[in-house]
Amino acid sequence: MSNIYQPAGGLFGKVRRLAARAGVRRSLQTDFSAPVVSFTFDDFPRSAALNGAPMLERRGWNATWYTAMGFLGTTTHLGEMMERADIEALSARGHEIACHTYAHLDASHCDPVVFADDCERNCAELMDLGILRPRTSFAFPYGEASPGTKSALQGRYGAMRGVRHGINRKGDDLNLLKAVALDGGKAGLEKALRAVHEVDQAPGWLIFYGHDVRENPSEWGCTPDFLATVCEAVAALDLPVLTVGDTLAMISDKPLRASA
Ligand SMILES: [Zn+2]
Repeated sequence: MSNIYQPAGGLFGKVRRLAARAGVRRSLQTDFSAPVVSFTFDDFPRSAALNGAPMLERRGWNATWYTAMGFLGTTTHLGEMMERADIEALSARGHEIACHTYAHLDASHCDPVVFADDCERNCAELMDLGILRPRTSFAFPYGEASPGTKSALQGRYGAMRGVRHGINRKGDDLNLLKAVALDGGKAGLEKALRAVHEVDQAPGWLIFYGHDVRENPSEWGCTPDFLATVCEAVAALDLPVLTVGDTLAMISDKPLRASA
């Protein structure tokens, strides 16, 4: 565990997170009259592509893959990370490949210019693979944002996601969208299933985020059974599942992104 980076906790971390949340907001203008669900995977481990993606595809769904190219071909605490062929295959099958910085930077400890440059490096590498619109969607590594990085990136990405738990509704921040984790074992699964029922009862945009999908997952991952149970719950209520980019296209009548 000692070599796994974790953002600062404690009072200082809390105060900083509140400031990041309050600063440089871009309000979601949509009154959701029907629920929408997005599945997203961060970083991303191969197991999510190999075990998770087919589960979604069987139901005709695609996910958003927040890809940090610095992980390409490496092995981390999340297991084997994605390879070039995984990214290409997901993209070819209709999934959204999105940005998550190149070096998996913590925005709360990073100069906004350096942070934005690192994102550009990531998008450039993705575009070299033939990914057309890596700038539609972005997720902050560790869910850590700052007013400076939100400001630096908000003109580039249609939507930016954090990791604060919740369902997105009118007035929530497109620069730091809430999400629901696909982790935490049995308690985490109950939380995820509760969110599915909540979004059905009170429409909004439920964005799941996960990491590895395998037997014996990391602390940040889940088992194939966990993901299958969430998928079944979403399907049982007939909730529409769209990528983050497709959801943005649906709710926005404005161009979603700066040109490449
Ligand atoms: Zn990440």
